[in-house]
Amino acid sequence: MKKERITLPRQKSLYLQVQCQECGNKQIVYSHTTSEVKCKICGTLIAKNTGGKAIIYSSIVRRFD
Ligand SMILES: [Zn+2]
Repeated sequence: MKKERITLPRQKSLYLQVQCQECGNKQIVYSHTTSEVKCKICGTLIAKNTGGKAIIYSSIVRRFD
């Protein structure tokens, strides 16, 4: 049986809905953000750029491909 080959772009970018672990606020974060993203409510660091892909510090609720 032939396997379907699916090629994903190496730098696939997507939007993530994350939930702040401090206050529970949900907001949208770009996966390849070029700057720090802080919670709009309490200011906790949610995501940080690492020169390619962002590190997400809060829990990911859902992803928008
Ligand atoms: Zn917060």
